[in-house]
Amino acid sequence: MEKPQITIGFAADLQVFLAAAQRREQSVVRVDGVSTLGHVVESLGVPLTEVGELLVDDRPVRPGHIPAQGERVAVRGVERPQRLPGPARFLLDVHLGTLARRLRLLGVDAAYENLDIGDAALATRSAAEQRVMLSRDRGLLRRRELWAGAYIYSHRPAEQLRDVLSRFTPALAPWTRCTACNGLLEQTAKAAVQERLAHGTERNYDAFAQCTDCGQVYWRGAHHARLDAIVEEALREYA
Ligand SMILES: [Zn+2]
Repeated sequence: MEKPQITIGFAADLQVFLAAAQRREQSVVRVDGVSTLGHVVESLGVPLTEVGELLVDDRPVRPGHIPAQGERVAVRGVERPQRLPGPARFLLDVHLGTLARRLRLLGVDAAYENLDIGDAALATRSAAEQRVMLSRDRGLLRRRELWAGAYIYSHRPAEQLRDVLSRFTPALAPWTRCTACNGLLEQTAKAAVQERLAHGTERNYDAFAQCTDCGQVYWRGAHHARLDAIVEEALREYA
């Protein structure tokens, strides 16, 4: 028996995931009459985390729909801002350390694994802690256990940060979280941290904070100009 044939078109945002030959408005694809539309979309290279509405002959269907002969499928990109079933908390894979530190700088809860613990362990942690898995690894984003996931499109940390902030609009609270470990900071009297400070630091700055998890001491100073710029830009655009 002939396998069913469908036409499928992807939104412009999703074209980047397709093989070169499929990158056009509509492609004709043979399906097996058994696999779900979600599976067909994934097998063409597009992570379901990036997919919004699925339309068959202009009517919305779920990813579990099984495409039949002659159907015309449209695949839309995920809605931005994207609503989550809970607070916007994140888990970043081993390649996204800079992005993790920038999110923390803005007070966004961003857990990060600096060891490669493997896809299964990451997916389990995403589910257990209800964190959005951020990754450039499409295989990881296919894992069914994920609470939620998002593909990181850019290699550049500044663009990655804008992507996450505009997509999930997390609440921003700069200078409240430890950039080293993601712990919360608390304001501290200078006297309490004096022995941990270099002499010049102690003399020049009065605003101190300390991580409640790892004990790292933070202070505001001129050498933070680059971090200040990141914070100011984020607040201007997304607060
Ligand atoms: Zn810390």
